[in-house]
Amino acid sequence: REVAGKVAGVLDLFAGVCAREEAELGRIDAIAGDGDHGQGMAYGSKGAAAAARQALEDGAGARTLLVRAGEAWSESAGGTSGALWGAALIAAGAVYDDQAGAEARTVVDAVDAGIDAIQRLGGAQVGDKTMVDAAAPFREELAKAFTGANAAEAILQAAEVAREAADATAEITATLGRARVLGEKSVGTPDPGAISFSILMRELGRHLS
Ligand code: ADP
Ligand code: MG
Ligand code: MG
Repeated sequence: REVAGKVAGVLDLFAGVCAREEAELGRIDAIAGDGDHGQGMAYGSKGAAAAARQALEDGAGARTLLVRAGEAWSESAGGTSGALWGAALIAAGAVYDDQAGAEARTVVDAVDAGIDAIQRLGGAQVGDKTMVDAAAPFREELAKAFTGANAAEAILQAAEVAREAADATAEITATLGRARVLGEKSVGTPDPGAISFSILMRELGRHLS
């Protein structure tokens, strides 16, 4: 239950960050997408945090809590990124055992499982100008930097790599997601989903420090 409380705390943090970044993420999505990424992330993370609080009250463990939070994220957000973030939380939950305490490496495994789900379900490749452009290098850096005990530092280090990769998506034309129909219009603007991914991972790393 102690682990579930920590996970719920992370989801509260995500909801706060998404609310703070809502306008800027919407502005970026409006240039080459449909402008709703800030709203989607704000609604989704808020719904997830509320579901997590309810699950805690019901006495749920981290695994169950993350399943409920993931379902709530997808439902509350709507949109592509909401479905992918929801699936990521559910996949991250599968790493936890509601009966046992979490090991130091569990958070890293959970993050890794979440990204794996985003890559599998979304089917995007690096270079498609999606959040995978930030998530894939994040995952690689995390695997390299994590030594078994330094979860917070490894996540922070990987989040920096993710931010650089997200910023670099400004150079590419979108080929997937809604931005693809606007093609060249997206050049010069980074992918909003890649930016929000890198921001949330940085906040997670800071929170764990
Ligand atoms: P929608 O595109 O439905 O309006 P959002 O605006 O919330 O949803 O999210 C857009 C983001 O979703 C994009 O910036 C991109 O990062 C991400 N995205 C879109 N399609 C995919 C995909 N197939 N795989 C991974 N991420 C994707
Ligand atoms: Mg959108
Ligand atoms: Mg949309």
